[in-house]
Amino acid sequence: MPADSSRPGPGRSAVVVGGGIGGLAAAVGLHRTGWRVTVLERAPEPREAGAGISLLTNAQRALDLLGLGDAVRANAAVMAPGGEGLRLASGRRLQPPADPAFLRERGLSLLVLTRPALHGLLRAALPDGALRTGAAVTRVVDQGGSAVAFHRTPEGEQAVSGDLVIAADGAFSAIRSALWPQVPPPVYSGHSVWRGIAEGVDSAAEPGGSTWGRGLEFGRMPLGGDRVYWFAVANTPEGRRFPDEHAEVLRRFGSWHQPVPALIAATPLGGVLRHDVFELAQPLPGYVSGRVAVLGDAAHAMTSDLGQGACQALEDAAVLCAVLAAQDDIPRALADYDEQRRPRSQSIVEASRRMGELKLTERPWQLLRRNARMRRTQPRASQQGLAMVGDWHPPALPEPAAVAAARPGEAR
Ligand SMILES: Cc1cc2nc3c(=O)[nH]c(=O)nc-3n(C[C@H](O)[C@H](O)[C@H](O)COP(=O)(O)OP(=O)(O)OC[C@H]3O[C@@H](n4cnc5c(N)ncnc54)[C@H](O)[C@@H]3O)c2cc1C
Repeated sequence: MPADSSRPGPGRSAVVVGGGIGGLAAAVGLHRTGWRVTVLERAPEPREAGAGISLLTNAQRALDLLGLGDAVRANAAVMAPGGEGLRLASGRRLQPPADPAFLRERGLSLLVLTRPALHGLLRAALPDGALRTGAAVTRVVDQGGSAVAFHRTPEGEQAVSGDLVIAADGAFSAIRSALWPQVPPPVYSGHSVWRGIAEGVDSAAEPGGSTWGRGLEFGRMPLGGDRVYWFAVANTPEGRRFPDEHAEVLRRFGSWHQPVPALIAATPLGGVLRHDVFELAQPLPGYVSGRVAVLGDAAHAMTSDLGQGACQALEDAAVLCAVLAAQDDIPRALADYDEQRRPRSQSIVEASRRMGELKLTERPWQLLRRNARMRRTQPRASQQGLAMVGDWHPPALPEPAAVAAARPGEAR
């Protein structure tokens, strides 16, 4: 029999599978609203590779509910969503920047920080010993009144039980596949993203912005100090690798308008990452099965074209904490989570896919149509689209949970 290493104790307990942004955020929120949490992460070390990440207002409000908003704001640069607007590779403008009055009225902004910084803040908000690394979960068993996650350790299989298990094990979630075997695994979107951080540049002079080419996109965002985060997207065959990824970005984007080539040139050699982008094309029929809830990419892996994957994972975490704080009946709370999260997150998966198809179009006549459409689009219409995604509010935490969440380290 595997050992059950969950410690008995007062209050409710949750086991979170996966120590990515979504899993850590859920664990932090639950801890702060009085739960005992254990996070099982298969990686041997707690770390997050990657360049920058942008968090729109919806994610910022989720972080506020989780008690992390101020800490993230203190470590992030702020930019207007869309920055200075949308351009073509020549520099010609396709769309103007969003109206500052509209952004102010709806409270819309982007926080930009490095992924390791965000990850570090999430980990630091967990109680000591809550995060177990080198713990690859092999299966989850729903026992009716509780759920158990089994994981491998050098000493053998271990079991950790809780009132519920949160599956935040990423896009290729093994738990999701076991619970909904009829749903096919994520599919390749057709595009790949390079990411880097330019150094020694004036971040304060960089408003951020996006540029579209033929099957190509380049985005840039200030990180504060002398750093600017950039990403470059291209249609590529799945699994394609280039001998020198940095040189490949320069080859494709080096003749674009400034500051695109300058930012690539200011990125340390060896500092360019590349990831193929996958999405869960067939929506899950539910985000809950018994005492197991899926969250983040495990529930709704989406393309990066709206920059919403982590934002939606944070929304999931905030809503899950709020519904669990609002009532003691866990199955009913999980049903509320499913009802509140599934329609919205799945519509954003869809919108993200459509955005990718539009911007990465390659056929000449479609390019002409795309550019004409973008020029014709009224700023008001783009702004409404932005507000539909970004101007989201989490449900309110009930009073005692809100007080506990506001006092880090004083969980019930
Ligand atoms: C190029 C690119 C740019 C992006 N930019 C943005 C952006 O600017 N803004 C934004 O909001 N989103 C962005 N995203 C999306 C965002 O990165 C993801 O949606 C987010 O990181 C998902 O977090 P997660 O915790 O759900 O999953 P993951 O980060 O994948 O974490 C899952 C964790 O589970 C662990 N795990 C897996 N299996 C097991 C197991 N069996 N047992 C234990 N642990 C396990 C993994 O090791 C991992 O640590 C981007 C994505 C890409 C590809």
